[in-house]
Amino acid sequence: MPVSKKDYQARPDLLKDRIILVTGAGSGIGAAAAKSFAAHGATVILLGRTTRKLETIYDEIEAAGHPTPAIYPMNLEGATPEDHIQLAETLEKEFGRLDGLLHNASILGNLTPLSQYNMEHWGKVMQVNLNAPYLMTRACLGVLNKSEDASVVFTSSSVGRKGRAYWGAYGISKAAVENMMQIWADELEANTPIRVNSINPGATRTSMRTRAYPGEDPASNPEPEAIMAAYLYLMGPDSKGSTGEQFDAQ
Ligand code: NAP
Repeated sequence: MPVSKKDYQARPDLLKDRIILVTGAGSGIGAAAAKSFAAHGATVILLGRTTRKLETIYDEIEAAGHPTPAIYPMNLEGATPEDHIQLAETLEKEFGRLDGLLHNASILGNLTPLSQYNMEHWGKVMQVNLNAPYLMTRACLGVLNKSEDASVVFTSSSVGRKGRAYWGAYGISKAAVENMMQIWADELEANTPIRVNSINPGATRTSMRTRAYPGEDPASNPEPEAIMAAYLYLMGPDSKGSTGEQFDAQ
C-alpha cells in the first residue's frame, strides 16, 4: 500500500544546507518542487532541457531570497552514460556531496494501443523516463555517498502501479521505475546513507496532464504547488529510515 504524506507539515528550515538535484525543473511539478525545496533552505540544482525555463525558475528563487540555485542544462533523451558521469563529477567538484535527487523529468509519448505503438517514440520514452534516471542514479552513487543522509526519489504514476489500456511505453516505463526503485533500495539499504523511494504525484495541473486529458477542465486538478508536502517529507530528515517504499502526493 502506498503511503500518503499529503498532510505533512514541513518546518521552514527543513532542508537547510541540503544540496538537491531536480530533473525537469523548468516547469510543472519539477519547477514547483525546486522552488519549494529552495524555500525550505536547500541549494537546488535545476536540471532540464530548456535553459530559458530553468533561468526563469532560477530568477524566481533568487528574487525570493532563497539559497542561490545552480543550472545544469541537459537533454536526457540524448544523454550518454559519460554525460551522467560528467554531471556527477561537476556536482562533486562544486558541492562536495548530494543530499537529494528528485527524478521528475519524463515524457508522455503516445497514448495508443500497444499493438500500434511507434517504436521510435517507444525508444524516446524509455530513454527519458527509465534509462536516464537509471544512469543518473548510478553515476551519482559516489556523490550521494558523501552525504550523511541522502534521499533519491523516483517519480511514478497511477498507470505505473497498475497497467491501463493505451498508456503504452509511458505506463511500462513507470512500472519499471517502481521496480528499479525497489532494487536500488534493497541494494543500498545496508552500508550506505542513501534511501530510495517513489512518489506518485496524482492528477496535477501541468502541461503533461493537459496533453494526456485534453477534454478535462484543468481547474479540476490541484496546482503543483499544492502537492508539495510529500516531496518535502521525502527530501528531509523526517523520512530517514524509509526506503523501498511507494508514496502518494495526494
Ligand atoms: P511536464 O509539465 O511535462 O514537465 C516535465 C518536465 O520534464 C519539463 O520540465 C520538461 O522540460 C522535462 N523534460 C522532458 N523531457 C526532458 C528531457 N529529454 N531532458 C530533460 N528534461 C526533460 O510534466 P509534469 O506533469 O510536471 O510531470 C512531472 C512528473 O510527474 C513526470 O515524471 C510525470 O510522469 C509525473 N506525473 C505527472 C502527473 C500529472 O498529473 N501531472 C501524474 C502522474 C505522474 P521542458 O519543459 O523543457 O520540456
